[in-house]
Amino acid sequence: MAVSSLTIRPRRTAAVKQGKKLWVEPWVVWRQDAFRELTCPACGETSVMEKHLDASPPFEPRKRYALYACGPCGTLHYPDAPPFEYESRKDADIARKFYVEIGAGLDAMIAPLAWAEPERVKSYLEVGGGYGFSVDFAARGLGWRAANIDPSFIARTGAADLGHKHLPEYLSADNPLPDGPFDRVLSSEVIEHVSNPDPFLAALVSALDKDGALIVTTPDAGAVHPAASLDALRPIIVAGHHLVIFSAKGLEIALRRAGMEHVSVIARDQTLYAVAARKPVEVDFTARPDRQIYRQYLKARRDALSEDPTLHAGFAVRLLKECVHTGAWDEAREALENLTTRWRRDYGLDLGAPQSVRPRFVLPEKNRGRAIRKFAANHCFNLAVALFYAARLREQDGDLDKAEALYRACSRSAKTLRKVFEAMFAACRETEDAGHRAALHAAMLAVRTDPDRAVREILALTPDAASLPQDLWLEAQRRVFADGVLTGRREAVEPLALMVQAQLLASAQSETPLTPSQGYAAAALGMRAEQTGHREEAAHWYDQAAHAMSDAGERKVFEGYRDRMMVTPQSGDTAIEAAFAEISALEAEGRSWKARSKALALIDPDRPDHDAVVATLGSRLASLEHYRTS
Ligand SMILES: [Zn+2]
Repeated sequence: MAVSSLTIRPRRTAAVKQGKKLWVEPWVVWRQDAFRELTCPACGETSVMEKHLDASPPFEPRKRYALYACGPCGTLHYPDAPPFEYESRKDADIARKFYVEIGAGLDAMIAPLAWAEPERVKSYLEVGGGYGFSVDFAARGLGWRAANIDPSFIARTGAADLGHKHLPEYLSADNPLPDGPFDRVLSSEVIEHVSNPDPFLAALVSALDKDGALIVTTPDAGAVHPAASLDALRPIIVAGHHLVIFSAKGLEIALRRAGMEHVSVIARDQTLYAVAARKPVEVDFTARPDRQIYRQYLKARRDALSEDPTLHAGFAVRLLKECVHTGAWDEAREALENLTTRWRRDYGLDLGAPQSVRPRFVLPEKNRGRAIRKFAANHCFNLAVALFYAARLREQDGDLDKAEALYRACSRSAKTLRKVFEAMFAACRETEDAGHRAALHAAMLAVRTDPDRAVREILALTPDAASLPQDLWLEAQRRVFADGVLTGRREAVEPLALMVQAQLLASAQSETPLTPSQGYAAAALGMRAEQTGHREEAAHWYDQAAHAMSDAGERKVFEGYRDRMMVTPQSGDTAIEAAFAEISALEAEGRSWKARSKALALIDPDRPDHDAVVATLGSRLASLEHYRTS
């Protein structure tokens, strides 16, 4: 019998493929299953160390390296990992665009320049400065004689882009630099890549003036523990790249061994920051460079380098963000206008018409690189961040409709960018955070015109609650609920009542006094209780609201509400009963101004307690108006 032409012929490829499939372990496994006698690269002690964990390098699931912990100082190191070769130029164009537009944390990078008597600094050397943003800022923003010594490809790229002084070599103690020594030497996130820190630190010290200060930053071994999240561990324990993860104690000992007598180390945000010098130096780890100088620097660089769309976008968006953060609103308007004009021209993307900003990205099965490049040619990677700060500015200007539309565009764009970054094996916390915040701000603004939508949006975010910025998340629930109830749309915001109530009860249990924002939410819960006939409960919430107010006038208003709940209208006093009923009904429709005149008209002008009754009603209504306009 002939085989049908419709027969699907059996093939064995699936079985073959399945046979080849590897069992791959998670990238990090906490496994204390080995001991070895090792010498700690940080404190220099030789001891029997216990293995802490083993981990795979990024994108190399088959390799595994064991991380050992030094008992005396707590420093972690990978004794068997070879130094990593960093000269990869694969996808260098995409990597540059990502770094320049969004990846580089410029503000954090330049902070160390202000920590140790910056007014005495005239010369600055960065060792392994990478792309070189902070060297560029030191030179052009602060006027220091500055150079970056770094043999990497990205350092050459940065120097060509920004035009700062660059030495494409490794620093060593027996190869003194022609224009050294320097008042300030900084090495940020480099020492963890070196297997033996002593020659490296000796080289840093050799470049330092005898009165100068050395600044070193590196990941903190104190942040490596089994309770830490994988996201937190990922940038610290990078197996195969990071060779030594210092403890604060280990770093201090290594710096002293290099001849630095005065060493200060702090741990902050999973990073160690150290200032080391031969002579005493005043250190302030909270200091930051002058904000006006920073803004001037960003603007000058934006304009000088505007020919390159990536450099323009990198400086223009950071400028907008900085202006909004520091409340320099006129400068922020200029920054937004400049960016709007430019992106309209370059990408046909209009920040002035946020409804039209709808970036799309679909990851194809094949040719991932081409899809990413196509997206990159049509958008900037800092799009969501730009939209967020544009929204903040419009909100500040009182253009709430535009602000809401910009927040929505930001939230949409952040979702798309997340997919793009994932396809690039990258992640951007700033973009994610902007997207989350924007979604919450959009809901808070939506309650003005569409409380149903605001509620839907808040509820849609509940599954992601853990990754949202908590303060803003709670505030958004309160604001949408309170604005809804206090403007007479209680039914629409009713689904949030339970969440808001739980939030306020939690505050009460922890005995933290309520903030005014929580107070308005309490007042809204009071009004809800009152309108559903629960006068005692209403009195409780009005009392909470009164206590939360910092303004004496507002406190009085809510005390008035509370007291009114305590008095039941006298039976037979139909005028007062009618007045209360009328007020409640009109308020429920959001028409408090009308409620006032109606209610007042119902009270007999000749009754003996006329003034007291009017005062109660009047203050209550006045406060409603006050709330709505504030
Ligand atoms: Zn040690």
